[in-house]
Amino acid sequence: MAEQYGDLAAYQGLSFAARKRPSSDEISTNIAKFQAYDNDFCALPDMRPLEKAIKKRRRLAKKEALNDGSDLEETSGSDSSESDLDTEDDDDDGDIGLGFDNDQENDASGAENAVGEPMNLADQEPNKTIRDNFYKYTVKGKEKFGSLSENHVRAIQLLTRLRKTRAPLESYESIMGWHLQELDEVTNSGLVSGCKEAFIPRKKLFSDLRQRYNMPEKMYSQTTTITLPSSNSRSDIIHNDAQAVFQQLLTDPRIQAKDYLFYGDNPFNPPPARLTYIEGLNTGLCMRETWHKLITKPGKQVLLPCIWYYDGAATCQFSDRPITAVRLALGIFSMKAREKDFFWGTLGYLPQIRQPESDGRRMLLQSGHHDGYMMHQEYLANEANQGNQKVHKAQDLHVQLNVILKSFLKLQKTGFIWDLYYNGKVWKDVEFVIFTPFLKLDSAEADKACGKYGSRTQGVAHLCRYCHCPTKNSDDHMADFPYKTAAEIQALVEAGDLETLRKISQNYIRNAWHDVRFGQHNGRGVHGATPMEMLHAILLGVFLYVRNMFFEQIGLSSRTGREINALSKEYGNLLTRQSDRDFPKTKFGKGIKGGKLTAKEYRGILLNMSAVLRSTAGRSILRAKKITTKTNPTDFNKKGVLDDWILLCETLLEWEQWLKSPKMKTKHVRALVQKNRYIMYLVKKIGNRQAGMGLNTLKFHAILHMADDIMQYGVPMEYDTGFMEQGHIRTKSAALLTQKKAEVFDFQTSIRKEEMDLLDLAQEEISGRKKWEYYEGHYFPDDAPPKVESPTTGGGQIECYRDQNGVISFEFITKFKGMDGSVLETELIEFVVSLSEKLGNLCPKNLVIRTLHKRNGVLFHANAKLQGSLWRDWAIVDWGDDGELPNRIWGFLDLSVLPPNSGLSHGGIDNIQPGIYAIVESAAYIEDEKEINRSNIFVPVRKEVDVMEHGNVVRAKLYLADVEAIVAPVSVIPDIGGLPHDYFVVKNASQWRDNFIDWLESDPVHDVMEPMGE
Ligand SMILES: [Zn+2]
Repeated sequence: MAEQYGDLAAYQGLSFAARKRPSSDEISTNIAKFQAYDNDFCALPDMRPLEKAIKKRRRLAKKEALNDGSDLEETSGSDSSESDLDTEDDDDDGDIGLGFDNDQENDASGAENAVGEPMNLADQEPNKTIRDNFYKYTVKGKEKFGSLSENHVRAIQLLTRLRKTRAPLESYESIMGWHLQELDEVTNSGLVSGCKEAFIPRKKLFSDLRQRYNMPEKMYSQTTTITLPSSNSRSDIIHNDAQAVFQQLLTDPRIQAKDYLFYGDNPFNPPPARLTYIEGLNTGLCMRETWHKLITKPGKQVLLPCIWYYDGAATCQFSDRPITAVRLALGIFSMKAREKDFFWGTLGYLPQIRQPESDGRRMLLQSGHHDGYMMHQEYLANEANQGNQKVHKAQDLHVQLNVILKSFLKLQKTGFIWDLYYNGKVWKDVEFVIFTPFLKLDSAEADKACGKYGSRTQGVAHLCRYCHCPTKNSDDHMADFPYKTAAEIQALVEAGDLETLRKISQNYIRNAWHDVRFGQHNGRGVHGATPMEMLHAILLGVFLYVRNMFFEQIGLSSRTGREINALSKEYGNLLTRQSDRDFPKTKFGKGIKGGKLTAKEYRGILLNMSAVLRSTAGRSILRAKKITTKTNPTDFNKKGVLDDWILLCETLLEWEQWLKSPKMKTKHVRALVQKNRYIMYLVKKIGNRQAGMGLNTLKFHAILHMADDIMQYGVPMEYDTGFMEQGHIRTKSAALLTQKKAEVFDFQTSIRKEEMDLLDLAQEEISGRKKWEYYEGHYFPDDAPPKVESPTTGGGQIECYRDQNGVISFEFITKFKGMDGSVLETELIEFVVSLSEKLGNLCPKNLVIRTLHKRNGVLFHANAKLQGSLWRDWAIVDWGDDGELPNRIWGFLDLSVLPPNSGLSHGGIDNIQPGIYAIVESAAYIEDEKEINRSNIFVPVRKEVDVMEHGNVVRAKLYLADVEAIVAPVSVIPDIGGLPHDYFVVKNASQWRDNFIDWLESDPVHDVMEPMGE
């Protein structure tokens, strides 16, 4: 807590800062100090003495970034050459950006609009510039752009290829040069000058494309230099103008009608009054209620939700230079559409705060070294708007965000007019009303965005950024504390009430997001608009705790622990080789006990645990565990303990699976409120976590807010950053193409990203979709219908026959590795040979067993030996009156040569018809209620056998089954330690989801929560 105290002390005037500028006397109280800072923290530091020098430096950096040190364009001289892309006003880049109001001096802060209150839109004329500018561009495009020249197409294709291979930027010039020279020599016709004309330098190409696709340089990659109030370091913020970003997002030629998300296919339609299901953002309460508050002119206005995302995407080996793009997507596009990169615009980049460098510079200044004098003026400029106060370090991020948000806030205030091409027609003069439903951030970034303490230790008053739950109550499954609201936090900050802020773990900062208009359905503002990352929190929080608690109870290094781990490893392997692939990964080299695992892998871990807990062997190992100790007090012999653990693991698996649904019924989400409390109760009661802070953690407490977040913003997929992993890949690869020099890194990344976008747009044009033909709509070839594959039979071939001596035998017709020494069961060979003999003349050759069958995209293996071990898949077979039963497949026979109504009987089938048949063993469901009720996922079955001796199966019972009767793949694992012919059918992930829905629909009175003992 020392750090927090330090900051508070600073605010109270006890500055710990080593150096003080002469104090400004007028700033006397905390409030005044803060307000003074507040008023001008957007302003640039006073840099007049340095202005020239800095501007020059920046110009150089910019030039360097654009050229990347390559000066080929100068030698090639084709900069001035005529190209069909050149327009007559090439020298005037103002034409393209025409009308864009790019005045930096305008006050863009929307701070005067208090959060939570609808803004008075009537007195603000909506911005028309974005539309007018674009319209002019389309007219110009049709008049002047024509088709891309052959030379341009060639240059675009080469650059696109190079970008994919991440080749250095310079390689374009050298490869193109080589290519043209070769061409020249081959055709032997052109002169060097001809070659020159064909050669388009990279810089020239991109400047042509910028015009062609209306991405004028002056709207993009603008630099604003600010001094960060806390770290005192200077920071160059690269940002793009929101007007250009919106225009780009609305006119990308890759947008299709199906990407839009309007109520009833009409942009002006109001949200439906009642919805029985929840999908994306537009089905949540936030957007539906905000619509009614903000849309004052129905039939003219359209609500435009803006979703924000940023994340420090570490750029591989240069992880000390993380690039964090602040990105924005429009909620009028569907959740699915927003999975694609081009639905996300970049508003700016959050630079890394380079504290050490600034500190180092300060040391140089203080040392009195002569070189230090040279920097003195610069240093003063840096400190200019600091006063003598120490500002909390959390403020720096918000100051950076303020710069990036500036042009957005201006538009948020006015909204803008747009001509929307949608569903084959242009909807003229649509007025977009901007609001922000939520920020899509990971937990740490979300805390910072809310100005909440990042620390998660015991000493922190609140763990939760949403509500007033004290840390010590975070594990309370019945907790119910009021939400934090924007007005409340803002009032505390404005009053300088540091003590109260500290008590609710909020930083004393001016929050940049308080200027942004969030949902008007409640007053929570940003403090209710960073939905908890449920899926991630569940996997890496709750699932991880449960695994650890299980081994804590067993004793981590005990013999029992080792045996359970070994058993789980075996089950992991068995679960991997199944025809049904709808399972998480279960194979872990080191078992489930330890090892480094990714979030997603915890699903497989819990499934393995459930299998072990359900198996006869697992249960007897756990029951045999000798004594319970203080650290692992659980007695697995106690009635119900094992089954409780199964209930816990399985409920969690089913819960997570359901939460990943793209669509949920509203009544289920309502039921989730109570069911989530029960899940928390199960984890607490059964897991009994002792380690660390027990279950007083944010990840655990966050479960309480889950149902509400879904109600507000849609299904978890909509805002869980796990689904964004793809999203910033473009930024990442753009960053890899830079020179990695600190000063120009963000700038270069920004330029490279723009170039990638330009190349994408060029590819679209090559495919016939020209950006300037927006008003006419773009043509997309129909998606090819999915191919229907007919079933095939293949794999290995095993011939079964009776030799001259009357002995049955077999031979592999196809050779494969590891087949030597393979054996086959006598009953299988007998089964096939006796069928062969029944066929007689109908089938002159010996029958051959095939080992693979594929139908409906599913592979069924029937191998006595595949990659060294047995792999015989199971399938559900429809046995008519006997029902659909799990069957194990031993092989496939092609009997299509048979005549219809052959009159033959074999393997349980009378009057065999021509066709492909599987040789199978059949199993039946065990009807013992007690065994069935132990688990929701593992269903006990028993295999039918021919001969049992001394408790062992000595002869399997084989049947013939028409492959057309195969209903579905299925996963079946042996009950290790149980009877030799006992198995479990393992329900797949989509069945877990159905299980969870059944539970949601069940009466909550069955979920009895006993009071928790201390
Ligand atoms: Zn909370």
